[in-house]
Amino acid sequence: MNLKEQIIGSLENQKEIFGDELFISIEMKAPEKKIVIENTLKLSKEDTLKIVEPKSLHQFSHINNLEDFNSEINSCLSCSLGESRNKFVFGDGNPNADLMLIGEAPGAQEDKEGIPFVGRAGKLLNDILKAIKFEREDIYIANILKCRPPKNRDPLPSEREVCSPYLYKQIELIKPKVILCLGKVAANVMLNNNDSLTKMRSNVHEINEIKTMVTFHPAALLRNPNWKKPVWEDVQKLRKLYDELVSK
Ligand code: URA
Repeated sequence: MNLKEQIIGSLENQKEIFGDELFISIEMKAPEKKIVIENTLKLSKEDTLKIVEPKSLHQFSHINNLEDFNSEINSCLSCSLGESRNKFVFGDGNPNADLMLIGEAPGAQEDKEGIPFVGRAGKLLNDILKAIKFEREDIYIANILKCRPPKNRDPLPSEREVCSPYLYKQIELIKPKVILCLGKVAANVMLNNNDSLTKMRSNVHEINEIKTMVTFHPAALLRNPNWKKPVWEDVQKLRKLYDELVSK
Protein backbone atom coordinates (compact mmCIF):
# COMPACT_ATOMS: atom_id res chain seq x y z
CA MET A 1 0.00 0.00 0.00
CA ASN A 2 1.49 3.37 -0.95
CA LEU A 3 1.48 6.42 1.32
CA LYS A 4 -1.52 8.06 -0.38
CA GLU A 5 -3.62 4.87 0.00
CA GLN A 6 -2.55 4.60 3.65
CA ILE A 7 -3.62 8.21 4.33
CA ILE A 8 -6.96 7.73 2.53
CA GLY A 9 -7.60 4.46 4.40
CA SER A 10 -6.80 6.05 7.72
CA LEU A 11 -9.10 9.03 7.03
CA GLU A 12 -11.89 6.67 6.00
CA ASN A 13 -11.45 4.77 9.26
CA GLN A 14 -11.61 8.06 11.19
CA LYS A 15 -14.75 9.03 9.31
CA GLU A 16 -16.40 5.71 10.17
CA ILE A 17 -15.95 6.35 13.87
CA PHE A 18 -16.06 10.12 14.23
CA GLY A 19 -18.03 11.17 11.11
CA ASP A 20 -17.32 14.66 9.85
CA GLU A 21 -15.34 15.57 12.92
CA LEU A 22 -11.62 15.35 12.42
CA PHE A 23 -10.23 13.86 15.61
CA ILE A 24 -6.69 14.93 16.31
CA SER A 25 -4.69 13.36 19.08
CA ILE A 26 -1.13 14.60 19.46
CA GLU A 27 1.12 13.02 22.02
CA MET A 28 4.09 15.02 23.21
CA LYS A 29 6.60 13.50 25.54
CA ALA A 30 8.11 15.87 28.07
CA PRO A 31 11.02 14.60 30.16
CA GLU A 32 8.83 13.74 33.14
CA LYS A 33 5.23 13.75 32.06
CA LYS A 34 3.20 12.86 29.00
CA ILE A 35 0.97 15.63 27.59
CA VAL A 36 -1.96 14.64 25.39
CA ILE A 37 -3.65 17.35 23.34
CA GLU A 38 -6.99 16.36 21.90
CA ASN A 39 -9.01 18.58 19.66
CA THR A 40 -11.96 18.26 17.31
CA LEU A 41 -12.46 20.31 14.21
CA LYS A 42 -15.95 20.53 12.76
CA LEU A 43 -15.94 20.19 8.98
CA SER A 44 -18.93 21.60 7.16
CA LYS A 45 -20.38 19.99 4.07
CA GLU A 46 -22.26 21.86 1.37
CA ASP A 47 -25.61 20.47 0.52
CA THR A 48 -26.29 21.91 -2.90
CA LEU A 49 -29.17 19.72 -4.00
CA LYS A 50 -32.73 20.86 -4.41
CA ILE A 51 -34.75 20.38 -1.27
CA VAL A 52 -37.87 18.33 -1.82
CA GLU A 53 -40.67 18.13 0.71
CA PRO A 54 -40.28 14.71 2.38
CA LYS A 55 -43.28 12.43 2.02
CA SER A 56 -45.09 11.73 5.23
CA LEU A 57 -45.98 8.23 6.34
CA HIS A 58 -49.58 9.33 6.05
CA GLN A 59 -49.35 9.26 2.29
CA PHE A 60 -48.72 5.52 2.46
CA SER A 61 -51.39 4.62 4.99
CA HIS A 62 -53.40 2.73 2.31
CA ILE A 63 -50.45 0.36 1.68
CA ASN A 64 -50.24 -2.81 3.72
CA ASN A 65 -47.56 -4.96 2.10
CA LEU A 66 -44.00 -4.56 0.87
CA GLU A 67 -44.72 -5.52 -2.72
CA ASP A 68 -47.33 -2.80 -3.16
CA PHE A 69 -45.07 -0.36 -1.39
CA ASN A 70 -42.19 -1.16 -3.74
CA SER A 71 -44.44 -0.61 -6.77
CA GLU A 72 -45.59 2.69 -5.30
CA ILE A 73 -42.13 4.17 -4.74
CA ASN A 74 -39.68 2.51 -7.13
CA SER A 75 -39.94 5.19 -9.78
CA CYS A 76 -39.19 7.91 -7.21
CA LEU A 77 -37.56 11.08 -8.53
CA SER A 78 -37.75 13.09 -5.31
CA CYS A 79 -34.02 13.78 -5.34
CA SER A 80 -31.39 13.87 -8.06
CA LEU A 81 -30.19 10.32 -7.28
CA GLY A 82 -33.35 9.10 -8.97
CA GLU A 83 -32.02 10.41 -12.27
CA SER A 84 -28.56 8.86 -11.94
CA ARG A 85 -29.58 5.44 -10.58
CA ASN A 86 -29.51 2.29 -12.62
CA LYS A 87 -31.82 0.34 -10.26
CA PHE A 88 -33.91 1.36 -7.28
CA VAL A 89 -32.77 -0.77 -4.32
CA PHE A 90 -35.94 -1.24 -2.29
CA GLY A 91 -34.79 -3.91 0.18
CA ASP A 92 -34.49 -7.67 0.37
CA GLY A 93 -35.36 -10.60 2.59
CA ASN A 94 -38.12 -12.03 4.69
CA PRO A 95 -41.13 -9.65 4.88
CA ASN A 96 -41.95 -11.14 8.30
CA ALA A 97 -38.42 -10.99 9.65
CA ASP A 98 -37.85 -10.40 13.35
CA LEU A 99 -34.43 -8.95 12.58
CA MET A 100 -33.95 -6.01 10.24
CA LEU A 101 -30.56 -4.69 9.14
CA ILE A 102 -30.17 -1.12 7.99
CA GLY A 103 -27.29 0.02 5.81
CA GLU A 104 -26.38 3.35 4.30
CA ALA A 105 -26.96 3.35 0.54
CA PRO A 106 -26.50 1.08 -2.46
CA GLY A 107 -23.03 0.78 -3.98
CA ALA A 108 -22.11 -0.02 -7.57
CA GLN A 109 -23.08 -3.72 -7.49
CA GLU A 110 -26.33 -3.03 -5.66
CA ASP A 111 -27.19 -0.33 -8.21
CA LYS A 112 -26.59 -2.88 -10.98
CA GLU A 113 -28.65 -5.68 -9.40
CA GLY A 114 -31.29 -3.75 -7.45
CA ILE A 115 -30.56 -5.79 -4.28
CA PRO A 116 -28.88 -4.47 -1.11
CA PHE A 117 -25.52 -5.80 0.09
CA VAL A 118 -24.52 -7.96 -2.86
CA GLY A 119 -20.99 -6.53 -3.36
CA ARG A 120 -17.84 -7.28 -1.33
CA ALA A 121 -19.27 -5.78 1.85
CA GLY A 122 -22.42 -7.85 1.33
CA LYS A 123 -20.43 -11.09 1.07
CA LEU A 124 -18.70 -10.27 4.35
CA LEU A 125 -22.08 -9.44 5.89
CA ASN A 126 -23.41 -12.87 4.81
CA ASP A 127 -20.46 -14.53 6.58
CA ILE A 128 -21.05 -12.49 9.73
CA LEU A 129 -24.72 -13.48 9.68
CA LYS A 130 -23.84 -17.15 9.17
CA ALA A 131 -21.51 -17.00 12.17
CA ILE A 132 -24.49 -16.15 14.37
CA LYS A 133 -26.72 -18.67 12.58
CA PHE A 134 -28.76 -16.39 10.36
CA GLU A 135 -29.30 -16.80 6.63
CA ARG A 136 -30.19 -13.86 4.43
CA GLU A 137 -33.67 -15.39 4.01
CA ASP A 138 -34.27 -15.13 7.77
CA ILE A 139 -33.81 -11.38 7.94
CA TYR A 140 -34.71 -8.21 6.05
CA ILE A 141 -32.12 -5.71 4.78
CA ALA A 142 -32.74 -2.18 3.58
CA ASN A 143 -30.79 1.03 3.29
CA ILE A 144 -31.37 4.63 4.36
CA LEU A 145 -31.14 5.61 0.68
CA LYS A 146 -32.71 3.54 -2.08
CA CYS A 147 -30.50 4.95 -4.85
CA ARG A 148 -26.74 5.00 -5.21
CA PRO A 149 -24.99 8.31 -4.48
CA PRO A 150 -22.33 9.18 -7.09
CA LYS A 151 -18.96 7.61 -6.27
CA ASN A 152 -20.54 6.21 -3.08
CA ARG A 153 -20.33 9.56 -1.31
CA ASP A 154 -22.18 10.00 1.99
CA PRO A 155 -25.92 10.64 1.71
CA LEU A 156 -26.70 14.37 1.83
CA PRO A 157 -29.07 15.64 4.53
CA SER A 158 -31.76 16.41 1.93
CA GLU A 159 -31.48 12.87 0.49
CA ARG A 160 -31.73 11.34 3.96
CA GLU A 161 -34.78 13.43 4.64
CA VAL A 162 -36.68 12.54 1.47
CA CYS A 163 -35.75 8.85 1.56
CA SER A 164 -36.05 7.93 5.23
CA PRO A 165 -39.90 7.94 5.31
CA TYR A 166 -39.67 4.97 2.90
CA LEU A 167 -37.58 3.09 5.41
CA TYR A 168 -39.93 3.97 8.25
CA LYS A 169 -42.84 2.56 6.24
CA GLN A 170 -40.84 -0.64 5.61
CA ILE A 171 -40.21 -0.94 9.36
CA GLU A 172 -43.93 -0.40 10.00
CA LEU A 173 -44.82 -3.20 7.55
CA ILE A 174 -42.14 -5.68 8.66
CA LYS A 175 -42.50 -5.03 12.40
CA PRO A 176 -39.10 -6.46 13.35
CA LYS A 177 -38.34 -7.18 17.00
CA VAL A 178 -34.70 -6.08 16.62
CA ILE A 179 -32.92 -3.62 14.31
CA LEU A 180 -29.19 -3.57 13.63
CA CYS A 181 -27.77 -0.38 12.12
CA LEU A 182 -24.63 -0.91 10.07
CA GLY A 183 -22.19 1.98 10.40
CA LYS A 184 -22.26 5.52 11.72
CA VAL A 185 -24.31 7.11 8.92
CA ALA A 186 -27.20 4.64 9.18
CA ALA A 187 -27.17 4.80 12.97
CA ASN A 188 -27.07 8.62 13.10
CA VAL A 189 -30.07 8.83 10.77
CA MET A 190 -32.08 6.19 12.59
CA LEU A 191 -31.26 7.44 16.08
CA ASN A 192 -31.50 11.06 15.01
CA ASN A 193 -28.21 12.09 16.57
CA ASN A 194 -24.62 12.78 15.60
CA ASP A 195 -23.00 10.55 18.19
CA SER A 196 -19.83 8.60 17.56
CA LEU A 197 -20.05 4.98 16.57
CA THR A 198 -18.25 4.02 19.78
CA LYS A 199 -20.90 5.74 21.87
CA MET A 200 -23.82 4.27 19.89
CA ARG A 201 -22.36 0.73 19.99
CA SER A 202 -22.26 0.77 23.76
CA ASN A 203 -26.05 0.85 24.21
CA VAL A 204 -29.21 -0.88 23.12
CA HIS A 205 -31.47 1.86 21.76
CA GLU A 206 -35.14 1.99 20.77
CA ILE A 207 -36.74 3.14 17.53
CA ASN A 208 -40.54 3.23 17.81
CA GLU A 209 -40.17 0.77 20.71
CA ILE A 210 -38.06 -1.64 18.62
CA LYS A 211 -34.76 -2.62 20.25
CA THR A 212 -31.93 -1.27 18.11
CA MET A 213 -28.22 -2.03 18.11
CA VAL A 214 -25.35 -0.48 16.19
CA THR A 215 -22.14 -1.97 14.81
CA PHE A 216 -19.44 -1.18 12.25
CA HIS A 217 -20.35 -1.17 8.58
CA PRO A 218 -18.96 -4.31 6.84
CA ALA A 219 -17.19 -2.05 4.28
CA ALA A 220 -15.29 -0.49 7.20
CA LEU A 221 -14.33 -3.98 8.35
CA LEU A 222 -12.87 -4.70 4.93
CA ARG A 223 -10.64 -1.66 5.38
CA ASN A 224 -9.74 -2.34 8.99
CA PRO A 225 -9.67 -5.99 10.13
CA ASN A 226 -8.96 -4.80 13.72
CA TRP A 227 -12.68 -4.13 13.98
CA LYS A 228 -13.54 -7.81 13.51
CA LYS A 229 -13.34 -8.46 17.25
CA PRO A 230 -15.73 -5.65 18.29
CA VAL A 231 -18.15 -6.67 15.52
CA TRP A 232 -18.02 -10.26 16.73
CA GLU A 233 -18.87 -9.05 20.24
CA ASP A 234 -21.71 -6.88 18.89
CA VAL A 235 -23.30 -9.62 16.83
CA GLN A 236 -23.13 -12.14 19.66
CA LYS A 237 -24.97 -9.62 21.84
CA LEU A 238 -27.44 -9.13 19.00
CA ARG A 239 -28.09 -12.87 18.72
CA LYS A 240 -28.70 -13.08 22.47
CA LEU A 241 -31.11 -10.13 22.41
CA TYR A 242 -32.90 -11.62 19.39
CA ASP A 243 -33.27 -15.03 21.08
CA GLU A 244 -34.64 -13.40 24.21
CA LEU A 245 -37.18 -11.28 22.32
CA VAL A 246 -38.26 -13.87 19.77
CA SER A 247 -38.81 -16.63 22.30
CA LYS A 248 -41.25 -14.36 24.21
N1 URA B 1 -23.38 -0.60 1.64
C1 URA B 1 -24.60 -0.28 2.13
O1 URA B 1 -24.70 0.48 3.09
N2 URA B 1 -25.65 -0.79 1.55
C2 URA B 1 -25.58 -1.63 0.52
O2 URA B 1 -26.61 -2.06 0.05
C3 URA B 1 -24.30 -1.96 0.04
C4 URA B 1 -23.23 -1.44 0.60
